[in-house]
Amino acid sequence: MKELNIITPVLSVGYDELSESDRRLVDAARGMTRKSYAPYSLFSVGAAVLLDNGEIVTGSNQENAAYPSGICAERTAAFYANANYPDARFTAIAIAARDTSGEEVAEPISPCGACRQVLAEYEQLASRDVKVILAGRGNIYVLPSVKSLLPLAFTSFE
Ligand SMILES: [Zn+2]
Repeated sequence: MKELNIITPVLSVGYDELSESDRRLVDAARGMTRKSYAPYSLFSVGAAVLLDNGEIVTGSNQENAAYPSGICAERTAAFYANANYPDARFTAIAIAARDTSGEEVAEPISPCGACRQVLAEYEQLASRDVKVILAGRGNIYVLPSVKSLLPLAFTSFE
């Protein structure tokens, strides 16, 4: 028997410590929290995907009275990005959120399991690490890849 320890490296940084490109991505994700349709949860999430062609594609959570029919901000952005730029590859994603008070969450939120799965596949398609930036009001977490958020991910090809 052998124990394997999987380590998730997370950089906790301030906004001013981000590169200009990362700040633009965080700004885009934060802006999208104002455009979510979240009348049920009142929890507004924004996501911004940076593609290798320089495009930033954004999304926000979209809810529905039939709850499972809604979709997270991350998948809204990811699916739109790949639908409109099928030849481009993901390089980074930023995620931000605003809670029921309307304030940006103090601590970063992290993608749900379904979004991690979807992002892991786009990371695999990109054949490179896709940086994940989780923005909170107080802290911003930077992870080097989606697979660091979803170790031992299920994938259809290796
Ligand atoms: Zn999700």
